[in-house]
Amino acid sequence: MSGLERLDVVVVGAGPAGSLAARAAAEGGARTALLDHRRELGHPVQCGEFVPSARELADLFDAPGLIEAAFDVPPNTVLRATRYMTCVSPYGHRFRFPLEGWTVSRRAFDKALAVRAEGAGAELRYPVGVTGVQGRTVRCADGSVLEARVVVGADGPISTVARSVGFEPVRTMFRMITATVDGPLTDGIDLYFGHAAPHGYAWYFPRMTDANVGLGVTELPPGLSLDRLLDRFVADAGWEAGRERTRWWVPIGPPPASLVFGSTVLAGDAANLVMATNGGGIPTAMMSGWLAGEAAARHVREGRPLARYDDAWRAALYAPLARAARIQRWGDRVSAFDPLLALGMRYIGSSGLDAMMRLRWPARLGRNP
Ligand SMILES: Cc1cc2nc3c(=O)[nH]c(=O)nc-3n(C[C@H](O)[C@H](O)[C@H](O)COP(=O)(O)OP(=O)(O)OC[C@H]3O[C@@H](n4cnc5c(N)ncnc54)[C@H](O)[C@@H]3O)c2cc1C
Repeated sequence: MSGLERLDVVVVGAGPAGSLAARAAAEGGARTALLDHRRELGHPVQCGEFVPSARELADLFDAPGLIEAAFDVPPNTVLRATRYMTCVSPYGHRFRFPLEGWTVSRRAFDKALAVRAEGAGAELRYPVGVTGVQGRTVRCADGSVLEARVVVGADGPISTVARSVGFEPVRTMFRMITATVDGPLTDGIDLYFGHAAPHGYAWYFPRMTDANVGLGVTELPPGLSLDRLLDRFVADAGWEAGRERTRWWVPIGPPPASLVFGSTVLAGDAANLVMATNGGGIPTAMMSGWLAGEAAARHVREGRPLARYDDAWRAALYAPLARAARIQRWGDRVSAFDPLLALGMRYIGSSGLDAMMRLRWPARLGRNP
C-alpha cells in the first residue's frame, strides 16, 4: 500500500472488539478496513480461552438485544462445554457453582470473527501495523496513510490508538502468563486464589485434549517472576511443566467516562472494558466493538453524532463494570494474605463467590447493588 487512501471506517486491531466493530460498520453500509499487525490472527494465544454462554452473559449485563447481535461464539472454535466454576481457596477448599460456558481455541476464534467481518463486506488487511492516529489520519508501519471518517481503536491493552488520542484511564494492569498442560478433562473450570497468585488468581481451564493454565497478578511478590509463579502453581498441582508459554496484560479498573475522541472511538481492552472480578474481556470486547461499529456506520451514513457510542456502551456495560471494579479493589486488600482470604471465602461461600464472578456483591456483605 502507498499514498493516501480514503475510507469511511478504519478499525485498528482484528481481535474480538475489532472484528465485531468492522462487521457492524460494514453491515451498516460503511466502507470499512480492518487492520492488524499480526502475521497470523489469533496467534500466539495470550488468553485463558474461556467464554460464558450467552445465557450467563445475560445475567451479567441487561442488554439482551446487544448480546444477541454481538455475542455469537463460532461453534467450530469450541473445544469443550463446561458447566461449573470452582473457586479454590489457598488451603484447597473448593467452592463450586453452576456456570455454563465453553473453552474455545482463540487461535481459531479470532480468525473466525475476522472472516465474519469480511463476509459482511469489511476489507481485512494484515500484517499492517498502525503507528499513530492524528484526527482522521491513520499512519501505518509500511508508510501508507489512510484517511477515515471514523477510526475505531480496538488494538488491545497496549493500544497505539488510545495513546495517540491521549486516552489515559485509571487502570490497573494484570500481568498474565498462560501455558498448556496435560491434566484432567473435567466439565468445569477452576480458579485458584491466594499464594498461587497473590493479588490475582490462577486458572485451570480444560480444553479438548489438554488444558489452558495460567495466572495473573497486579503486582509480583518480591523475588518472584511470572514464570516462577507458574512453575510453582503447575508443580503444586502435579501437572507436567507448562509448555507454550505466553505473557501479556489485562487492563482492569473502572470503566472510563467517555470513549469518543473527535473522530476516534475505542473498544475492548483498548477502552479498559474488562470485567475486573473475573478478568474476562472477550464478551465485553465483542459487545463494545459491535456498538462502536454500529455508531461509526450511523455517523457516516446518517450523520448521527459519534457521541451516541458513549450513550450505547454506557447503557449496556457501565454499571456492572464499575461495580466489578469496586468489588475487585475490595477483594484485592485481602487477596495476598492467605489466612484472611481463606476465612473470607468461607464466610461468603459458594453463593458469594458466584455473585462476585457475576459482577455483584456477595449477599452476606449486605452491600447495596
Ligand atoms: C493471559 C490472558 C488470559 C485471558 N483469559 C481470558 C479468558 O479466559 N476469557 C476472557 O473473556 N478474557 C480473557 N482475557 C482477556 C481477553 O483476552 C481480552 O480482554 C480480549 O482479547 C480483548 O479483546 P480486544 O479485541 O479488545 O483486544 P485483543 O484481543 O488484544 O486484540 C487486539 C488486536 O490488535 C492488534 N494490534 C495491536 N496493536 C496494533 C497496532 N499498532 N496495529 C495493528 N494491530 C494492532 C493485535 O495484534 C490484536 O490482534 C485474558 C487475557 C490474557 C492476557
